[in-house]
Amino acid sequence: MGLSKFFITSLAAVISVLSHPAEAAVISCRAENVTVTSPDVESAALACSAVQAAVTQFAACRMPALNKPLRIVILDDLDGAFYGLYYIGKDMINVLTPAAMQASEMTENAFAGVEITEYFKSTITHELSHAATEGIPCPFASCISTSEYISYAMQVMSLDPEALAAFQETSRIDRPIATEEFSPVILFMAPSLFAQKVWAHFQQNNAGCDFIGQLVRGETTLDLAPF
Ligand SMILES: [Zn+2]
Repeated sequence: MGLSKFFITSLAAVISVLSHPAEAAVISCRAENVTVTSPDVESAALACSAVQAAVTQFAACRMPALNKPLRIVILDDLDGAFYGLYYIGKDMINVLTPAAMQASEMTENAFAGVEITEYFKSTITHELSHAATEGIPCPFASCISTSEYISYAMQVMSLDPEALAAFQETSRIDRPIATEEFSPVILFMAPSLFAQKVWAHFQQNNAGCDFIGQLVRGETTLDLAPF
């Protein structure tokens, strides 16, 4: 989520954020070169723990490190149908508070069984993955399928055992998934199915992190040349 539709709504979202600075300046903490600003202490603490876990997870799964300062701004409200957003080129993530996620009428069905604080942290992991992989090789103007594959893989991988079990119970994909099955069409039309297919593919042959490494190094891509 986040990266894809961001291309369409970026201007409106950025203007909105800039025009409401007071909403996002109550609590902040620093972890791993990341500044977290939040309207409540609990959300800030959850975000910082998500960052620290992501640093370890990324290192263990052939991901680029988070090697530049990042800002995470936690908000009670976020324009558009988003739980989280990474602002390309601005080193900033916006994410809803867990309470706002819970109250939202939006549903990301693939994660429907995941407890809300765990989902909140995994959303941050998803957006941190976009930040970490912003500079990876892309032979086209956009490599959105590759980018979202990586972010969903890291998001699901970050779940604790109980949440992961809930995700897998919802998914029920029990057949091999081919790389050709990841496309922007599925991403936009059925993002939950995209996420479920990512996790099924990631687990195949216990080779998920090897595949992440290939994507990160540009040795393979899930995107096609535009026509
Ligand atoms: Zn995304």
